[in-house]
Amino acid sequence: MFDYAIIGAGAAGLHLALAMQNDPFFAKKKILILDKDAKDQNDRTWCYWERGEGLWDSLILNHWSEGSFHACGDTIPLKLHPYRYKMLRGLDFYRHAKQTLGKHPGVTWLQEEVLEVEKGSPLKIHTSQGEHMAEYVFDSRIPEPFFAKADPCTRLLQHFKGWWVKTPEDFFEPNRFTMMDYRLLWNNSTSFTYVLPLNRREALVEFTLFTPELLQESDYDTMLQRYMEEILGLKQFEITETEKGIIPMTDFPFEQYSSGNYLRIGTGGGWVKPSSGYSFKNCEKNARKVVRNLKTQQAPGKGIISPKFRLYDSLFLDVLNRQNQTGPALFHTMYRKNSIQQIFAFLDDESTIPEDLRIIVGFPQITFLGALLRRITR
Ligand SMILES: Cc1cc2nc3c(=O)[nH]c(=O)nc-3n(C[C@H](O)[C@H](O)[C@H](O)COP(=O)(O)OP(=O)(O)OC[C@H]3O[C@@H](n4cnc5c(N)ncnc54)[C@H](O)[C@@H]3O)c2cc1C
Repeated sequence: MFDYAIIGAGAAGLHLALAMQNDPFFAKKKILILDKDAKDQNDRTWCYWERGEGLWDSLILNHWSEGSFHACGDTIPLKLHPYRYKMLRGLDFYRHAKQTLGKHPGVTWLQEEVLEVEKGSPLKIHTSQGEHMAEYVFDSRIPEPFFAKADPCTRLLQHFKGWWVKTPEDFFEPNRFTMMDYRLLWNNSTSFTYVLPLNRREALVEFTLFTPELLQESDYDTMLQRYMEEILGLKQFEITETEKGIIPMTDFPFEQYSSGNYLRIGTGGGWVKPSSGYSFKNCEKNARKVVRNLKTQQAPGKGIISPKFRLYDSLFLDVLNRQNQTGPALFHTMYRKNSIQQIFAFLDDESTIPEDLRIIVGFPQITFLGALLRRITR
């Protein structure tokens, strides 16, 4: 019998386990971590921004205080201070978590696939290998109704392919990154490329779309090749690694699939920012909230979802979904009319209503009013 069971040793599950391990309240608790995978492969690169120093600084591959945004024939320089944009490899985070959690006598980490969770007190978890009981379950599987699509929620996909490239000569500026570059679009959609240099000769270049449908595998490669040649003017390079990803951008109410001592976490708990697809930093922040709630005997998910920001996200997604070709101009307006610090605070769900209004009034009012009406009548 465990006090806490965490299903999924990904971003959300590991942030939660690490937040528990870091707090004396959990020193004598029994914590079970279940994942169907061994988590011994690098399956993603995480980027996030934060002010100054952070918990994972010893793991990061690189960080930037300056960058640029390109759209609508305009280049906007970004000076991030006091924020820094940071990049870390998934595998480094998984290894760090395994090593750190290994020191906690109460942590059991098993490679088992979870099949079902039976609600009750305690909860019963059925896995490919057997059964486990726990007082609380934190589940990072995505609830089935999300895939059924039998609701009026907006579902866009953030889908991308990245190439880690190596050049024979110095080419990149390691201190500057490209946040979003809309100079090369896929069929006039909301599609952009970002460039994250590791050093003068190595960078991660990723072509990304915010659209309802995926592309053919070869289409991502074509766009990356074109970006390298046409935008960067780089013909000679070697691809050393690739990465692909699909992140749901949706206003689906994931939090409704939590109840009592059973909390959905991560993507399956609505911890991905719907309008940006970022979630690594959200997972860290939300894990802290869960820990605080457990210590004060409140509902574990209390205070995690902000209705105000969910409404903004929902309107933004509705506009992107219906008028996908307007995405580059929308983002351009956002970056042109606001500082990067204001944008980060807004995307972090940390801005105040006057700050929100400053960002919102920059957008086409009629379009967003239409989205608001649809949201109200939905
Ligand atoms: C290639 C890629 C790049 C990304 N880049 C960024 C980025 O730069 N910044 C950012 O903020 N976000 C990024 N994301 C998104 C981010 O990684 C995810 O949103 C985040 O990992 C979500 O956390 P999670 O814990 O919900 O899911 P995951 O990290 O995917 O973890 C879920 C875990 O659950 C396990 N699992 C699933 N089903 C079962 C089951 N039935 N039984 C047992 N275990 C199960 C899986 O094996 C997995 O380990 C990226 C995603 C990808 C794929």
